Amino acid sequence: MSEIGVSDFEGYGDSTRSVSAVAREHAVGQPMQMGPIFAAPYQLSVDEGSESDTYARASNPGWRGLESALAALEGADHALVMGSGMSAITATLRSVLVAGDTVVVPSDGYYQVRLYANERLAPLGITVREVSTLQMGDASFADLLDASPGRVVVVAETPSNPVLDVVDLRVLADVCHRSGALLIVDNTTATPLGQRPLELGADVVVASGTKALSGHSDLLMGYVATCDAAVSQLIERERLLSGTVLGPFETWLAHRSLGTAGLRFGRQCDNALALAEMLAGHKAVRSVRYPGLRGDPSYTTASGQMKRFGGLVSVELGSAQAFHSFVEASNLVTAATSFGGIHTTADRRARWGDPVSAGFVRIACGIEDTADLLADIERALDA
Ligand SMILES: *Cc1c(COP(=O)(O)O)cnc(C)c1O
Repeated sequence: MSEIGVSDFEGYGDSTRSVSAVAREHAVGQPMQMGPIFAAPYQLSVDEGSESDTYARASNPGWRGLESALAALEGADHALVMGSGMSAITATLRSVLVAGDTVVVPSDGYYQVRLYANERLAPLGITVREVSTLQMGDASFADLLDASPGRVVVVAETPSNPVLDVVDLRVLADVCHRSGALLIVDNTTATPLGQRPLELGADVVVASGTKALSGHSDLLMGYVATCDAAVSQLIERERLLSGTVLGPFETWLAHRSLGTAGLRFGRQCDNALALAEMLAGHKAVRSVRYPGLRGDPSYTTASGQMKRFGGLVSVELGSAQAFHSFVEASNLVTAATSFGGIHTTADRRARWGDPVSAGFVRIACGIEDTADLLADIERALDA
């Protein structure tokens, strides 16, 4: 198409002029435009079949920009973006499992992964095993893999959400590969800035980018990252045919947000460590979990594989009421589920059915000044 502007459509009908007012292509020196860059339609060439982007659900330049950034962060050869973390996980499982196979899911990980396995995969003839994050690190885990029918696919989540147990990924990858199992690691809580599971031996990374990676609590997204070209192709095919896609606006927002991920996540991790240290000595607190806290059961393993320990701190208060009073008294902590945003939030996990005590709270640190956050939380717990 020749270079023509809106003014060249003087004399055309209103609709033609309206359509022409929307930029058609990328122009150097112009602000980024949403439509033509990130979604359809694409112009087809006369040479049929030679085009790469013909329809946005198959591929589009917006995804490719975000995917190459995510692949670089995860140390992967291939990354695929999806509409949510759950769609990244479920598209991956649908791509690699058939009837007669086994899937091992964490009994203490993100609860909807267990629900999906039991409600959707088990009726298709796939054996579902729930194993805790700590059990995945036990010597007996190899026996469980060897005794499972079909191809075995293991989903691990480390640190696990919400208890923050950690499994040694190098050891787990070795055990999985010796018995021919595929290892998928949910990297949501750590983010690729905290740990790179593919370098530790995992076959596939799945994650929710809804949390710390995009970081503003204003979009849902997920991604898959791998160095295995064959697995990547299967999942890309699943995304095309099932239509489990990331929309153009989320693609743009997520890509833009990656620019501040290092700053945001760094502050969240600093806040989390300082908070865990303070809470460990507070009388209203029964116990604290943070993988970066010296003396935490996860500390040694986490130190061996994580660069940063994440923004989540788990804490046990005396009761559900103690949690409500704490949130009421705080100026900075909001009661909310999800995590990874710029505001500090707290979630009483028993309300969602997690197997934890009534006063168990997952605190997701935001990017507030550390001293302000500590002072506010200390005061709210004393209130
Ligand atoms: C939130 C979360 C998911 C699901 O991600 P969505 O983007 O909400 O679909 C999966 N795994 C973990 C560990 C999570 O925290």
